[in-house]
Amino acid sequence: MKDTKADIKSMDLEELKKEMEEAGEKSFRANQIYEWMHGKLARDFDEMTNLSKNLRERCREAYLFTVLKAVKVQESSLDGTKKFLFELPDGNTVESVWMKYKHGNSVCISSQVGCRMGCRFCASAIDGLVRPLAPSEMLEQVYAITLLTGERVSNVVVMGMGEPLDNYDNLIKFIKLLTDENGLHISQRNVTVSTCGLVPQMRKLADEGLQITLALSLHAADDEKRRELMPVARKYTLAELMDACAYYFDKTGRRITFEYSLISGENDGEKDARELARLIGRLNCHVNLIPVNPVKERDFVSSSSEKVLAFKNKLEKYGINVTIRREMGRDIDGACGQLRRRQLHQ
Ligand code: SAH
Repeated sequence: MKDTKADIKSMDLEELKKEMEEAGEKSFRANQIYEWMHGKLARDFDEMTNLSKNLRERCREAYLFTVLKAVKVQESSLDGTKKFLFELPDGNTVESVWMKYKHGNSVCISSQVGCRMGCRFCASAIDGLVRPLAPSEMLEQVYAITLLTGERVSNVVVMGMGEPLDNYDNLIKFIKLLTDENGLHISQRNVTVSTCGLVPQMRKLADEGLQITLALSLHAADDEKRRELMPVARKYTLAELMDACAYYFDKTGRRITFEYSLISGENDGEKDARELARLIGRLNCHVNLIPVNPVKERDFVSSSSEKVLAFKNKLEKYGINVTIRREMGRDIDGACGQLRRRQLHQ
């Protein structure tokens, strides 16, 4: 049965105030509930001890209070990375990853159950889109991990399952709640949204007045090659994408990150590096090289470490800012969507 109750954890303070007023309550009750949900990370209305029992009961009847249950947790013996498989209120599952860095803890969250973008190398795309996530379900990945690890999260990357810009309104709401001073108050500068390149939404995002980082999954610097790897490239050309990136930088002053997964013999040659440098050279940007993570259902092979290094050196010679993504949690199904597939198809 579908739960049709209003999703209280997806509401901002203004909406919550309206709810309380309509219920005949004082508006400061909204502030109290908001703080319990987003500041103190309460798991239930019962924890909200400064509300009357009666109000707690009425809230329970009126609202859906989304909490995620960790159904599987894997810890990497290599670097302490933890991968969580969370169950949503309707029984669907999503993955999130917790990574410990010197500069703080980072969480990679999912934005949809499945994905409809169909990138050839990606495990999340294999079964298509099941449904988008509500703002509460994105927040809860961060909240549940904070509680389970007992450590503060300082960075959030929306790079798990799903295409965040294909769930635009919920994504914006999520970012506003996540970075709100009355919630976890994570700095907008520490939030990264990764997209396969939905041009109209990238432009819209630029106009939101946010200070988040935009990461673009490029993976090829040639239209034809990109179309082979990513069906979305049939809709938007690289020229259109670069214009949208320049627009994002102009509007926000935030440097763009380009993600480039290196696939042996497909996009890792000298010519590829040269074309990439030519394509992005004029933008204020940074390139993140990721050796492709082999997915069981796909036959892509990761570039050798020599090839990755040569690619990096070549880009640097052209004056491009580039890093090789540290591979975290490779021993625990590190690549997108793999843990959920294993659970679904075992
Ligand atoms: N839909 C968004 C975010 C999710 S994927 C996007 O496309 O950016 C996060 C990143 O992982 C993307 O750059 C994606 O292309 C990359 N990716 C997916 N599967 C991968 C794999 N098997 N190996 C390496 N990178 C992969």
